[in-house]
Amino acid sequence: MDQTEHSLATNLFNTVFEQEAMGMALRAVDPRNSRWLRVNQKFCDMLGYTREELLQLTSIDISPPNEHEMSFEYNEKLLRGELTSYSRDKRYQRKDGTIIWTNICLSAVHDPDGEPTQIISIINDISQQKLAEKALVGSHDDLEEVIKSRTSRLEESEKLFNQAVHIARLGHYVWDEVVDRCIFASEEYARIFGVTVDEVLTQYYNDEKGMVLVHPEDREKIMSTYKEFEKQGGSCDIQYRIIRPDGELRYIREMWDPVVDNRGRVVQTVGILQDVTEHAKLQKTTEEREAKLKLAAQTARLGYWHYDEVEDEFLSVSEELAQIFGYTAEDYLKRFRTAEQDMDLVHPEDRAAVNEAYKEECSAGLDYRIVRRDGSIGHVREYSMHVKDDLGNLTEAVGTLQDITELKEALLKADHAKETAEAANRAKSEFLANMSHELRTPLHSIISFADIGFNRIEAVNRKKLGQYFEYIRASGDVLLGLIDALLDLAKLESGHIKLNIETTDLGALVGETIREFDQIVNDARVQFDCQCSETVRADVDSNRFRQVMRNLLGNAVKFSPLGGTVRVTIDVTSSGDSVQVQVCDQGPGIPEDEKELIFEKFIQSHRTSTGAGGTGLGLAISREIIASHHGSIWANNAAEGGAALTFLIPVQFGKELSSAQTAR
Ligand code: ADP
Repeated sequence: MDQTEHSLATNLFNTVFEQEAMGMALRAVDPRNSRWLRVNQKFCDMLGYTREELLQLTSIDISPPNEHEMSFEYNEKLLRGELTSYSRDKRYQRKDGTIIWTNICLSAVHDPDGEPTQIISIINDISQQKLAEKALVGSHDDLEEVIKSRTSRLEESEKLFNQAVHIARLGHYVWDEVVDRCIFASEEYARIFGVTVDEVLTQYYNDEKGMVLVHPEDREKIMSTYKEFEKQGGSCDIQYRIIRPDGELRYIREMWDPVVDNRGRVVQTVGILQDVTEHAKLQKTTEEREAKLKLAAQTARLGYWHYDEVEDEFLSVSEELAQIFGYTAEDYLKRFRTAEQDMDLVHPEDRAAVNEAYKEECSAGLDYRIVRRDGSIGHVREYSMHVKDDLGNLTEAVGTLQDITELKEALLKADHAKETAEAANRAKSEFLANMSHELRTPLHSIISFADIGFNRIEAVNRKKLGQYFEYIRASGDVLLGLIDALLDLAKLESGHIKLNIETTDLGALVGETIREFDQIVNDARVQFDCQCSETVRADVDSNRFRQVMRNLLGNAVKFSPLGGTVRVTIDVTSSGDSVQVQVCDQGPGIPEDEKELIFEKFIQSHRTSTGAGGTGLGLAISREIIASHHGSIWANNAAEGGAALTFLIPVQFGKELSSAQTAR
């Protein structure tokens, strides 16, 4: 190289050396003895020294201790010519003590004889790169840490999950819809069915064998649910029974969901199932108990109600309660939401008592009347109780209501029967007392006149004796008449009389009876007026009919004033199916409160029991005869004074009178 070339090369080197973006340094070959010969500004900046300071130092002075040996080893190789250059990452200690990472590239500079004289270093600051690397390594470690912790948490979760499914007796499975078979079944799943997982996957729950363990009665239900699921998709929830291989019956609840791929096809079904036997048995027992309770409540006609005292409305009423009133529970709550509305169902006369009972904390049972939906009256017995909160405020009330209508009616009937029996007993005693009195009177006369005659047989003349016999005969006749009447009444009352029914002209029959009286009653004493506008015919037993007429006419004559008129009317009623016969007189009439009484045996009106004679059996016999003709007889007073005895009989025998006709 000539001088010019050398100078050019030196200039070029200098330019490169100083303008290099990386640090450059030149030193003697031995790093332990050699100070820097030349350093560029970049290298100074990297290490924080001035150029003058750095030139006073060696490479060892600015290297951390463990870097020395390595530098020495590489230098040796360079000097020995084993390496022409080498590059490695190396740390330097900056003036402020901090460490920087560099990448140094060293090359030996040789003299013309090929001997190494200097070493030139190109130093690149790679601190940032090292930091990035470190961060990368760090984040990798973090990631591993996260994965480790997640894995352990997952393992923990799986453990807990397995424990939970075991406790809940919850099995799960996966069904592959493509190959149509069970591809996973959990241990718990197999345990519920009393088989092994292997058996589930190989023997049970694949294809047609799927139903083997299902109770035969529930197979249809499952099949239709499957079909519905295939058609509609969505989630399913079903309960059924299984019979395990060991014969045990268990209740299962199964739920499943479809798993859909990204093209919307159902590829799998994931299901869980639970052994709900205990729950199902409990539910069944509860249902059975509830049904029995309901039946008992229905049988006892016992309903209950629950009232919210704060909101002032019913919370609920049972069906049985609503039925007592003729409503459904729903209807009842719509119409009678509040206690005030509910009062409409209580009989007006009983409302005050019911209101009072509700004020009681615990009502001891109140019987009252209700008005049912159809307007009929019923009887109920109610118990109610207040419910209070912890502060003692009235919050709710509860009660039961029992339909006791039948009981009440039975009691009323029993009361009535008792009263009737007592009345019959009284009547029997009265009858016996009356009868012995009535029998005694003529008998007494008979015995008295027989005694008188016997005692005076020598003293009195034949005419007198004849009179005594007449008295005896007359009393005997009275006695016989009385006994005949009694026997007649007894026969009529027992229904043992035989009627000889014929269609008869009643006007003619009444006329005949009046004529019988005409012969025995003095014209001046009483007159008869019989009004019968047309021929009235009806089905009657003429003898019995005459007997009634005789009695009515006899009484009328007996109680008529001197010269009075007895008026008899015979009419067909407007409906044309019955005949009304009335006998009116001008006598004292019958007191209002005795109009019914005089039809009783031996009863005589106070107004007329003046010794006018009579047995008190005539009207009783007449009522029986008219009743045997399906008719009705009653007493009234005529507007112009006097008694009016009326009877009504059907034209056609056997027909009943209408209720309007019997109501007077
Ligand atoms: P008897 O006339 O034989 O006493 P009844 O049974 O025929 O018996 O009559 C019962 C009673 O009814 C009579 O005693 C009388 O007190 C009253 N009574 C019946 N008919 C009349 C009448 N026309 N006017 C007033 N009282 C009558």
